[in-house]
Amino acid sequence: MAKYTGPVCRLCRREGAKLYLKGDRCYSDKCSFTDRGFAPGQHGATQTRKKVSEYGIQLREKQKTRRVYGILERQFRSYFDKAERQKGITGENLLILLERRLDNVVYRLGLAESRNQARQLVRHGHFTVNGHRVNIPSYLVKVGDVVAVKEGSKESPLVKSVAEALSRKTAPAWLEVSADDLNGKIVRYPTREEIDIPIQEHLIVELYSR
Ligand code: SF4
Repeated sequence: MAKYTGPVCRLCRREGAKLYLKGDRCYSDKCSFTDRGFAPGQHGATQTRKKVSEYGIQLREKQKTRRVYGILERQFRSYFDKAERQKGITGENLLILLERRLDNVVYRLGLAESRNQARQLVRHGHFTVNGHRVNIPSYLVKVGDVVAVKEGSKESPLVKSVAEALSRKTAPAWLEVSADDLNGKIVRYPTREEIDIPIQEHLIVELYSR
């Protein structure tokens, strides 16, 4: 599936769930999402969602997860294959791998307003990992890594505006943020309970096990 470039709020309506793709706006009353029970493009009170097959439900859960993290199909499948080879519960392994992506970590640290913005900032080379510039959004961080705004990027207007909001944000417990230094350390990997996205990962496992 090609990269989606249309309005992102439409994706929430498509999935029938808030996907939190627009950062702070998603947590405010500016969020336009209401679960009206029908997909975008359909109108009128008589429209109801069609009965969905088991396969359809599993497929939607996978698409929803891909959209939350902004990942294309082939890459998503490779995360799944990697999760399957790891010890433990495949669905949880998958979500932990997705959380370890550098763009997600930048977002979780509060150094970007959304995963989309984090991906853009990483691509533009505004971040380092353990002192080395990394511009690959899919880079997987490890325990002990320190993700930081690159010294020369601290004056960038976009980075500055995000940094100003940093002190008002709370990072998850698996990350240790230094708001003054604009960096954060990965102290451990997240537990499933700490991954606050509305996903039933077992449905993705079932889909790929067909
Ligand atoms: Fe748009 Fe965010 Fe609301 Fe989704 S959750 S509809 S992306 S504002």
